[in-house]
Parts: sequence; C-alpha cells; structure tokens
Amino acid sequence: MIAVTGASGQLGRLVIESLLSKTSSENIVALVREPNSIPEFVAKGIEIRQADYNDPASLVKALKGIDKVLLISSNAVGQRTSQHKAVIDAAVQTGVNFLAYTSLLKADTSPIFLAKEHKETETLIKESGLNYSFLRNGWYTENYTMGIAQAIEDKAVYNCAGQGRLTTAPRAEYAEAAAVILTDETDQHLNQTYELGGDTPYDLSNFADEIAKSAGTDISYINLKEDDFKSALIEAGVPEGFAGALADAGIGIADGWLVDEKQDPFKNYRAYNDTYETICFGSGSSFIENFEAKRQEILPAFFYFIL
Ligand code: NDP
Repeated sequence: MIAVTGASGQLGRLVIESLLSKTSSENIVALVREPNSIPEFVAKGIEIRQADYNDPASLVKALKGIDKVLLISSNAVGQRTSQHKAVIDAAVQTGVNFLAYTSLLKADTSPIFLAKEHKETETLIKESGLNYSFLRNGWYTENYTMGIAQAIEDKAVYNCAGQGRLTTAPRAEYAEAAAVILTDETDQHLNQTYELGGDTPYDLSNFADEIAKSAGTDISYINLKEDDFKSALIEAGVPEGFAGALADAGIGIADGWLVDEKQDPFKNYRAYNDTYETICFGSGSSFIENFEAKRQEILPAFFYFIL
C-alpha cells in the first residue's frame, strides 16, 4: 500500500493521478486533513484517511499497514520541521518500509531561507533509519506562469533574481517522478537523492521575452533590489513573511541555487535523470517547450482574465 500525504494539495492530487496510471486504486491511500476534501478520488476507489501533521495520533492511525509513503512537504513554513518529524516518527512506529520526501533543489547546501526546513527534515529522515528517497524538486514552472496575466498588464516581470537561471518543471512532472519511484518494485531508489527539474535553464529575461512574443507586446524584466522587490510584493498583498521568503529566493536564484545544470556530483543523478526523462517526458522538458506547447491554450485564458 502506498500512502500520499497532502493529497488534497496541488502536487498531491497530481501524484494520485500519476499513481492511478501505474497501479490499482486499491494500492493507494490518500492522507488528508479534511476527509471530504477530495471526493473525486473516493469515486475512483481510493481509500481516504484523515491525517493532520499537528496530530501525531492521527498519523499513526493513518499509516497502519502502509508499505511506502510519500511525505509532501507542508506549506506551513516555520512549523514544517516538527510537522514532518511527526510523520517520520509515525512511519517508524508503524513499520513503513520506504519514505520518499519532496525536498528542494540542493537542500543540503542551499542558503535559501526556504531550504532550511528541508535540510532539517532530510537529516531527521536519515537519522530515523527509514529507507528513503529525497526528491529535491526545483521551482515549479507555475510559480511564474501564474503571474503571466499580471506581467502582460504591467508590461513587466519584476524580481530580484538578476540573470540567475532556473530549471523549473510543472508540478505534474515532479508528481510523475514521485509516482515512478513509489511504484518501482526494485531497490534502486532506496537511500538515493535526486535533483529534479526541467532540462533547459532559462532566466527571467527569457521568460519576459517569451510572454512578449506570445502577447505581441513589449514586456521587460525589471531587476529590483531585494528590499524593493519585497516591498513591491507586500504592496501587492503578499504577507510580509512570505514576501521576504520570495525576495530571499530571488537572491538565491541570482546566486545559482535554483538551477541544476547537470553538473552536480550527486550519486546516480545522471542515471536517474535518463530514466526520468524517458519515462516522464520522452525528449526532456523545458519551460520554453512547455510554454510553446501551451501557448494557444493559455494565452486566450489570460487575456480573458485581464478583461
Ligand atoms: P499546496 O499548498 O497546494 O498543498 C499543501 C498540502 O499540505 C495540502 O494538501 C494541505 O492540506 C497539506 N497540509 C498543510 N498543513 C497540513 C497539516 N497540518 N496536516 C496535513 N496536511 C497539511 O502545495 P503544493 O501541492 O503546490 O506543493 C507541495 C509543497 O511543496 C508545499 O506544501 C511546499 O512545501 C512546497 N512548495 C514548493 C514550491 C516549489 O516551487 N518547488 C512552491 C510552493 C510550495 P489542506 O488541503 O487540508 O490545506
């Protein structure tokens, strides 16, 4: 039995969909805070179990009889290490054989604020003695595509990432990678660390150019100072703490912490990446390719949104 935490979230739902394409619904258990949150999966025959990261007893109950678990990192920044520890402890207590964790690119060395809790969680998992895979996801492509409508309206993309490059991938592709690992019957993924992301690095000037090309208008990338970008986010309604984390991540991008140029010496990275590409994407993926493929589909929707 494979259990997925955060199954009501954007990534979790996609992981369940990917799992459904690889194994029977009888092998999948969706863990959610609110059991009525995913009726579409109940209809598909998936067992739903209540599990709250802040309620250790619920986690122990939810992991009974589970062989493999995907711990999708919580979105409660600041509380994540203790929440994740509760899941790890419950997995040990219930005899789970394998725990995969959605971490962040270069989590063990990254100075980015958001990497700290991922690093702490990876350490806890290693110390627990559980078999694990670390799925160090790069940034989601959606982090940027969700801002396309605003960029067209402003005729600008704002950040403080300089010319720093990114290897993003859509959530669906990280979800597919997780499902591949969770359904693998061999031991090849045990105690491995994978740096995941799209194949072709791009920077935010490239991103602005792509939108401009599609929208038929000028769009510039405006590089702000970290504090100015943070203030702009706050002015746009982003809570202060999160605005600070995003500005900090912008500096991390400028310094190369959210790009994987395939030069990382992680064991098996290349081997896995080949498998990942073959299984998930065929010829590989990049933001530009994804954007190109979806150009016709997404732009009318964004224009509708603006009007
Ligand atoms: P979402 O915010 O869509 O989903 C988060 C999930 O965590 C939800 O299912 C939520 O449940 C669940 N959750 C939160 N608190 C608890 C709790 N106390 N007990 C049980 N479940 C809880 O995030 P995504 O799916 O988009 O991304 C997954 C994770 O990836 C994020 O949580 C974050 O750690 C990280 N992330 C990565 C980014 C990247 O670019 N790589 C960008 C943003 C986030 P509920 O539905 O009940 O709220």
